[in-house]
Amino acid sequence: MNAFRDLSVKHKLSVITTSISLIALLVVLISFIIIDTRDFEKKILNELIVLADIIGDNNTANVSFAKISPESTEEAITQSLASLKANTKIIAAAIYVGDDNILLAKYQDKNTASFNFPSIFKYSTESTIFKGDQINVFRPITLNGETIGSVYISSDKSEMKARLINFIFIGCLILILGVLVAYVLSVQMQKIISEPILRLAKAEKEVSENKDYALRVKVDRKDELGYLMTGFNDMLEQIENQNKELVKAKDVAIKSERAKETFLANMSHEIRTPLNAIIGLSELLHENPNKQTNAEYLQGIVSSGKQLNSLVNDILDFSKIKAGKLSFETIPFNLETIIEEISSTFKYMIREKGLTLNHIIEPQVPLLIKGDPVRLKQVLINLVGNAIKFTSTGGISITVEQLKLKNNKTTLLFKVVDTGIGIPEKKRKAIFDSFTQVDSSTSRVYGGTGLGLSICKMLVEQQGGSISLGSELNKGSVFYFEIDYTLQSNSSSNHNNPSELSEQSFANLSVLCVDDYPLNLTILSTILTNVGINVSTAVNGLQAVRQIYENKFDLVFMDIQMPVLDGISATKKVRETTVNKDLPIIAITANAVKDIQQECLLAGMNQVVLKPFKKEDILNVLNKHLASKKTKSPTMPDKTITNLKAPFPKLSNITGGNKELELKLLNQYQVELSQKVEELSSLALNFNKDFFLRLVHQVKPALSYLASEKDVEYINQINSGVSESNDSSVEMLKKILTNILADINTVKTL
Ligand code: ADP
Repeated sequence: MNAFRDLSVKHKLSVITTSISLIALLVVLISFIIIDTRDFEKKILNELIVLADIIGDNNTANVSFAKISPESTEEAITQSLASLKANTKIIAAAIYVGDDNILLAKYQDKNTASFNFPSIFKYSTESTIFKGDQINVFRPITLNGETIGSVYISSDKSEMKARLINFIFIGCLILILGVLVAYVLSVQMQKIISEPILRLAKAEKEVSENKDYALRVKVDRKDELGYLMTGFNDMLEQIENQNKELVKAKDVAIKSERAKETFLANMSHEIRTPLNAIIGLSELLHENPNKQTNAEYLQGIVSSGKQLNSLVNDILDFSKIKAGKLSFETIPFNLETIIEEISSTFKYMIREKGLTLNHIIEPQVPLLIKGDPVRLKQVLINLVGNAIKFTSTGGISITVEQLKLKNNKTTLLFKVVDTGIGIPEKKRKAIFDSFTQVDSSTSRVYGGTGLGLSICKMLVEQQGGSISLGSELNKGSVFYFEIDYTLQSNSSSNHNNPSELSEQSFANLSVLCVDDYPLNLTILSTILTNVGINVSTAVNGLQAVRQIYENKFDLVFMDIQMPVLDGISATKKVRETTVNKDLPIIAITANAVKDIQQECLLAGMNQVVLKPFKKEDILNVLNKHLASKKTKSPTMPDKTITNLKAPFPKLSNITGGNKELELKLLNQYQVELSQKVEELSSLALNFNKDFFLRLVHQVKPALSYLASEKDVEYINQINSGVSESNDSSVEMLKKILTNILADINTVKTL
């Protein structure tokens, strides 16, 4: 039984199906033999009865004479019985007569050795007796309804036996054949059951040997085996997922363990360094009578104390945030003040490292908002502090943009950009985790505990915002975070009010305007002279750099795209020496691409103003960068000439309604635009796309002051490639310019 149990499934199935077939065949065969033997026996018996009756009938007369002439009767009957020898089955026969049934005549097959005839017939006259291999039949002989004797016939079963043996032989052959066929079929059929089971077993073996839980069994059926396979696959999937989670959890545990170890090491280093300094300097202080060096020692003690204090604050903040105990305020504050405070906090550090720090708050950003200024400052200080720490050349810039304004809510995006060492991509995500630094050498080289960014992240997220970063190794990093703030109810005028500004004066201040486009220089100079500023001009970067070296300016407006030396390179040259480090340089560009603006800031420019600019934009710049130099007595703009009919409102806005100046500008525009109309006429005859686009680019600044909004939009679309340039655009532009020239003529005749 054990041997059978240990057989493989496919052998077991073959053995079972073959055995069942064998047993079934045996049962059928045996039943068949039994039934057939019985039928055959009955048939023989009937034949014997019929034969006995015939013998009886044939010998009725003889038997009736038996009493009268027994000898002759016996002979006659014996002869009659002798005819039985033709029937090989009959081994003996006899006839009994009289009331006592006395044996009268008999027949015995000569092949039968001896036969024991009963001398007196003691059975009832009609009976059948099966005895050994014999069948004995007794039949009455009657005459006129009266029994006068009996016939006895005995037959052997040899025919039956032969038939039985024959049957058994054929049966065995059928059995062997049947079993063979059943075996062959079962070997084939068992595959239907055993193959998937074996497949499962193989998969299970592979999984347990290779621990490969990603393996799956192909499910190709919907029976119980199919369910089993699906179940097996599900189980593997669950194990696989569990394993993945376990591996992740293990990784996290290992990482956090390592991070904590590093944190402890860093922390002890961070605590020990200022502590050692404090102890060492205190001892020196104690021993040293020299007052001048003592002041230095005291300074060292104070700064080490501050360092320790900020460390402890970080840890307190961290644990408070973790415990959910940090609360946030919603109070009104001025965003510009916060940003400026941050700039001044880092002023000395920046100077010490020879870096630049600029900030730009985009014009649409509301400055008077409500929120938590302390936490905003904390995040910015952390980011700017890191930016300075990890930057050795170049600069840092802080920008604020408005992402969304809805009802009285504004979403502000803050960016801190540096040109420092950068952060490898694979470390960027983890950098916000507590106690994490880019690598272990970071703390050795730069110090720090790895807590700052995780505090920033928690502070930003707990205010409903999000923080992320972008970085390129050895090029720099940018940290972005966005937070929702509420507008202060009276915050309609956030940036300084230009009308207020126009009343203010910047008398005796000197500003250099650099642009290769004379009309721009005229406009800018006009606005500046109107508020009392002494204006100098330069038409390229090189001239500008020379002038800056030779003169003292309070501020510079610098175009970006210029021949000889562009604005960004000129600024870099200016910033190379420390003399002009604090000179505000304002970029003026028609390029609205954010990267260019970023490049300007990183080159050391302080702010970017987009062309076409309005008078308010320029006055805002003055107010922001020259506020401390403003004089109280305002130089009012010339308001005497204000009744000029103004078909060019944007130009009037620039000139502040100065008719004389407007006429001067319109004369220049007239010359320039007439020339362009001529160029367009020849272009209409022979269209050249590049030439046309260059021309569009050249007239764009003039049109931004002179054309209607719709026409400006059209020109912008052509310039940016949104609209196609073709013959009809040439015509369209010509029409716009001709209309403007007609308007200029009208204004001039008034
Ligand atoms: P700490 O500066 O005290 O180590 P932080 O959480 O502020 O902790 O910063 C974690 C790590 O992120 C720093 O150790 C540094 O490796 C990396 N990192 C942060 N800011 C910058 C950055 N501006 N440039 C390069 N790496 C940075």
